Amino acid sequence: MTIDALEQFIATMRLSRQQDGVALTHALIENLRLQVSTAEVCVLEVFGSRRLAVAGAELSTSEITIRRFSDVGQRMPRSELGPGIMRTIRKLTPTAVEAEELGVGRVVFPVVDKIGPLRLVVLDHVPMDPWVRTRIFQLVEIYGNLIALMDSRERDQLTGLLNRHLFVSLFELAAKRAVADDNKRLWLCVLDIDHFKDINDNYGHLYGDEVLIHFAYLMERSFRYTDDLFRFGGEEFIVLLTSESSEPPMLPLERFRQIVETHDFPDVGRQVTVSIGFAECERGALPTSIIDRADKALYHAKQNGRNTIVNHADVRPKRTEGFGKVDIFES
Ligand code: GH3
Ligand code: MG
Ligand code: MG
Repeated sequence: MTIDALEQFIATMRLSRQQDGVALTHALIENLRLQVSTAEVCVLEVFGSRRLAVAGAELSTSEITIRRFSDVGQRMPRSELGPGIMRTIRKLTPTAVEAEELGVGRVVFPVVDKIGPLRLVVLDHVPMDPWVRTRIFQLVEIYGNLIALMDSRERDQLTGLLNRHLFVSLFELAAKRAVADDNKRLWLCVLDIDHFKDINDNYGHLYGDEVLIHFAYLMERSFRYTDDLFRFGGEEFIVLLTSESSEPPMLPLERFRQIVETHDFPDVGRQVTVSIGFAECERGALPTSIIDRADKALYHAKQNGRNTIVNHADVRPKRTEGFGKVDIFES
């Protein structure tokens, strides 16, 4: 085996040993940096293109959100994307942008996946050597196959959001991050579409599905990359939301509530609303008990006319003579 082939083999082994999609993407970036020491590597995740294509809508590039994969995750303004990105999204084929005078260039590889977001692997300052590019291409191909497997396990088939599979481990990770940074708070929010049964009954199940797809797409556009988004079942979604202030996250939740209320869903129009219950994830509390609290707040939101947001901390517990404080809420 040549040194190159051996290196490639080791890199492949490292990728295949990863336990989840996040670790796998980190491993890909690390491996590419090792393989092409001159290169700057990043992975971009493109949200919206597949959802809109599924919904039969024309892909308008203003409808997609592009985020850089990283621990802090940030949205990428169009002006910072650089060359080759939009072309790759439109054509879904690799793009090379040469900067000939320097003998190096940018390469952008699309990783198309049925369930997860479209991912773009972007390398800058790559030598124009075709052998180097072939090696990169092979690694990206292997990554593509593995991430598709991870996505089929970790994501909901209909909406592409995370399913319950990773919930507990992502909850623990987010809780750890919040503990490590005193300024950060973690909130668990349960989002439930109002009168969703009526949408199914009036328009049919397929249109109901379409509403779920669009709803998830609105979540991806509205919440931050660092917030974990789950479809927990039927028309119920969970957002694990990290905030930098100790204030309850009314701003992002209220923004989302309004986005849903005013969104023109295909065929169904502007009649979809969402109720939200949320609770703070206090240190050491079990995820099940936090979900329970957020569920109770959601119940309260449903009792109070729907299309509204309730913080568990604001729900006044009923006092029952002789039993002290009990967990029943006034409606
Ligand atoms: P509420 O405002 O109280 O939440 O009322 P609701 O009608 O939204 O709630 P309910 O729990 O009565 O009904 C939820 C409906 O969601 C019933 C079920 O048929 C439907 N549903 C669950 N999963 C899916 C799905 O994957 N696709 C579609 N189209 N419908 C689904
Ligand atoms: Mg509902
Ligand atoms: Mg429900």
